[in-house]
Amino acid sequence: MALKRITVAHGDGIGPEIMDATLRILKAAKAPIEYDEIPIGENLYKSGETTGIGPESWDIIRRNKVLLKAPITTPLGGGYKSLNVTIRTTLNLFANVRPVKSYAPFVASPHPGINMVIIRENEEDLYTGIEHRQTDEVTQVLKLISRPGSERIIRYAFEYARLYGRKRVTCMTKDNIMKITDGRFHRVFERIAAQYPDIQSDHQIIDIGAARLAAQPERFDVIVTLNLYGDILSDIAAQVSGSVGLAGSANVGTDMAMFEAVHGSAPDIAGKDIANPSGLLISAIQMLVHLGEAKTAELINNAWLSTLESGIHPADVYREGLSQREVGTTDFTNAIIDRLGEEPQTLTPVHYHGGKITITPPSQEPAAKDLVGVDIFLDWSDHGRDADVLGKGLEEAQSPLWKLTMITNRGVKVYPQGLPETFNTDHWRCRFVPANGQQASYKDIITLLTLLTGHGYEIIKTENLYTFNGERGYSQAQGE
Ligand code: NAD
Repeated sequence: MALKRITVAHGDGIGPEIMDATLRILKAAKAPIEYDEIPIGENLYKSGETTGIGPESWDIIRRNKVLLKAPITTPLGGGYKSLNVTIRTTLNLFANVRPVKSYAPFVASPHPGINMVIIRENEEDLYTGIEHRQTDEVTQVLKLISRPGSERIIRYAFEYARLYGRKRVTCMTKDNIMKITDGRFHRVFERIAAQYPDIQSDHQIIDIGAARLAAQPERFDVIVTLNLYGDILSDIAAQVSGSVGLAGSANVGTDMAMFEAVHGSAPDIAGKDIANPSGLLISAIQMLVHLGEAKTAELINNAWLSTLESGIHPADVYREGLSQREVGTTDFTNAIIDRLGEEPQTLTPVHYHGGKITITPPSQEPAAKDLVGVDIFLDWSDHGRDADVLGKGLEEAQSPLWKLTMITNRGVKVYPQGLPETFNTDHWRCRFVPANGQQASYKDIITLLTLLTGHGYEIIKTENLYTFNGERGYSQAQGE
């Protein structure tokens, strides 16, 4: 049988121990893989590689396309970049797939019936790291949501549900507030959900959705959501399942993938042969399915479930009364190897059907885009920050080509006719539209900017206002 070549990184802390355990189980199960090892983590950071990975390792990762990674220790102090974020974004690993399960009655859990998968968008949203301090008082971060990015992750979630025999996909957003960004994700979800009539679908607002996830996690099946919400939800889900140490995760792109445990490098227990290798093992099982080795994935997963059932437990899941015997990393690994070929009797055995998720983003005609105005942001603190003074001043300074329609402060309309109670910062958004009600031109915007600058206004940013196929592509202000 042709061997599949992957890349393996042993990481720091308990990383080498749990990676050795995982590789030993893969070997005993005759998984048809071979591997190249790469160094990552603390030693590289300390030798001056600010990303924690050397340039030669990228070639190996790219060549093998699949990386099995143990946790690393991020040194304290500034200047170090997150290796995980670097790997995800550099290799275009757009989907973060985190299965969360409870294994009651063999592993204590406050919610025995949990069996869900959180599929988190991995590259966009507030994680693009585009932040600015614009005035003395105000900072901003850009939340970017793209149509192709949304389509890809949502389609991935439905394809995942089909491949793994799951029944429902739940989308979570905050589109009652962020109507354009989260609203787009929700609309794409509804469009794609209609193409999967065999899978149930629903949408929940993230705040109530997160509350339900904490209170009744067993009600969820597949959840697809944006980057930040997914980050928070997966920690809530792992926490309520009672088994953070048993959780694995996959970061999947169109061409490459990285598999790793959810937990960190646990330096407090490193080198003591007490770490639980399950998180990394579950990730390796996800990897085998990804590589098309469903039968080997099944063999290992069922042996692992049988081991949990037998009550042979590592220290972090050992409980008096529930467990039979507390074992270290080596003995737990041996127990799993001994049970290869067994199926669990009480827990549900897993059956993977194999198959690969391939996403081809549909091409879509770009919408007709018309420039219909401009929001000009000012840093302004004169005249006791009186919005009426600013409004009248701008009206005097502006070109006759433009009309000032409103000023907002932190999104609240303060001119014309603001309320005296509104608190004003030094950060103002001033909306201009063409005076003749016609389409605007960028040249006219530059004329306006030049005029305002000439009158002493400090412009910190502009945002063009567009319509797309006639539909407004910008939000209205509160109170507008
Ligand atoms: P951690 O997950 O390493 O440890 C938290 C607690 O859980 C510790 O008490 C630890 O002993 C225990 N624990 C974790 N994994 C265990 C396992 N497999 N078996 C038994 N017990 C286990 O989190 P932390 O202490 O906040 O972070 C330690 C280091 O790991 C930090 O340097 C952090 O930056 C890094 N980290 C790395 C990754 C990664 O590489 N993916 C993820 C998270 C944290």
